[in-house]
Amino acid sequence: MVQIKMESNLLGANEMLARQNRSLFEQKGVLVINLMSSPGSGKTTILERTIDVLDGQLKLGVIEGDLYTDQDAQRIDKKGVQVFQINTEGACHLDAGMIGTAYKRLTTGNEDIIFIENVGNLVCPAEFDLGEELRVVVMSTTEGNDKPLKYPLIFHQAQAILLNKIDLLPYTDFSLDRFSDDLARLNPSALLFKVSGRTGEGIKTWTEWLLGVVDKKKIGLNN
Ligand code: MG
Ligand code: ZN
Repeated sequence: MVQIKMESNLLGANEMLARQNRSLFEQKGVLVINLMSSPGSGKTTILERTIDVLDGQLKLGVIEGDLYTDQDAQRIDKKGVQVFQINTEGACHLDAGMIGTAYKRLTTGNEDIIFIENVGNLVCPAEFDLGEELRVVVMSTTEGNDKPLKYPLIFHQAQAILLNKIDLLPYTDFSLDRFSDDLARLNPSALLFKVSGRTGEGIKTWTEWLLGVVDKKKIGLNN
């Protein structure tokens, strides 16, 4: 595992670097997924579960973004997956420059999927294009119903939402109906996966979808 400290770029420079990343990822045929959420929503646990299912079927890589520590990267490292840690030294989001550098250091050139675990924050990660193909928001039932309407941008831009800690639903006031209604208004085309990182519930449906996306990409590349 490699761990480096990086400084954040400004938004304008970011757009140019994001375009460079996107064309590099396209050229390599790698599906890059930007996982965003608030702290404690379960991104790393979901990644561990996802790796358990997909490892052996697909070649995976993970870029971990964190303020100061490498705790999450260590967890991914234990799974035997190529992982690269970015420490933002206090910056509350990842940017395209960091991802370009991390990708070049991480890649063996033949990954099918690279997951980026963004810094836990529902605000500015949404504003920084990393050159990713898919944006996925993880939200847990314990965070309450108000999150989509309070942080509309991040939910509006996502291709998929993972509603985590679905096993805890009976112990919360979380309303699935209200959540679905809010999401339908903000982003009608977003896919919703109800999952539990703890029990593994729903993970198969999510990984089947990922396999489908990778397959489609490969067919596209061969045509
Ligand atoms: Mg984490
Ligand atoms: Zn930020």
